[in-house]
Amino acid sequence: MDAINLDKPALEAVDDYCEYRRIVGEDDGGKLFTPEEYEEYKRKVLPLRMKNRLYVSFGVPGGIDCKLIGPETQCFCEHRYKQHQTEWEVVPSERPLALPCKVRGCHCSAYTYVPWLGCNPVRCRCKHLPQDHSEATGHLCRKCNSCSGFNSPFTCGCGRPLFEHRTLVETKLERQARGQPVGRDVPYAAMGGLTGFSSLLDGYHTLEASCTGNNLFLFPLFETKSRSFFFYSQGHSVHL
Ligand SMILES: [Zn+2]
Ligand SMILES: [Zn+2]
Ligand SMILES: [Zn+2]
Ligand SMILES: [Zn+2]
Ligand SMILES: [Zn+2]
Repeated sequence: MDAINLDKPALEAVDDYCEYRRIVGEDDGGKLFTPEEYEEYKRKVLPLRMKNRLYVSFGVPGGIDCKLIGPETQCFCEHRYKQHQTEWEVVPSERPLALPCKVRGCHCSAYTYVPWLGCNPVRCRCKHLPQDHSEATGHLCRKCNSCSGFNSPFTCGCGRPLFEHRTLVETKLERQARGQPVGRDVPYAAMGGLTGFSSLLDGYHTLEASCTGNNLFLFPLFETKSRSFFFYSQGHSVHL
């Protein structure tokens, strides 16, 4: 692959754009804010976002976090975390806290992580993929009558079966009460459970990496099926 040489102003423009995207997410509806609109957005949204941040993880209740959800992590409904409602002016008090999908026509009422094996998400006991099931509550199969709702025989890297796992949405206080890292406050949209470098690794690996929440902070750029690509300051990217 050829290296592309960018001069400094071009690199700064790339950094500015990435910063804009991380902050605004999809809230501009696909049309870039004017500088005035951007300032107004930051003034209105950022204080609430920092105060109300929600952390999203996947694991067995009482156990470790097997996966920390980032902005690009796919839901059962096939849409990404950032396409769900990830922030509120006032965080609802009911638990579990459900984050519905905002994509028009999608009936997903709660962000739900499904592990992947290679290039595909894990299959249901009925042998069909998550996308063959309804994204609405109950996740009934559209391809067979023997399925009573998506349920996979998959065993997670933590050694426990998938059905014991749940996608957990929690506030900063709730996460701290579980003794889990919350990272530093960031202005970025839909950060989910990402709090530091070791968020890139699956939970059973972070045990070895000893996540303290004070690690080098990396910004998620995009995530493919098996790899996460991250962007950190000055426009370098790394991948795991
Ligand atoms: Zn959806
Ligand atoms: Zn969804
Ligand atoms: Zn089926
Ligand atoms: Zn099924
Ligand atoms: Zn697990």
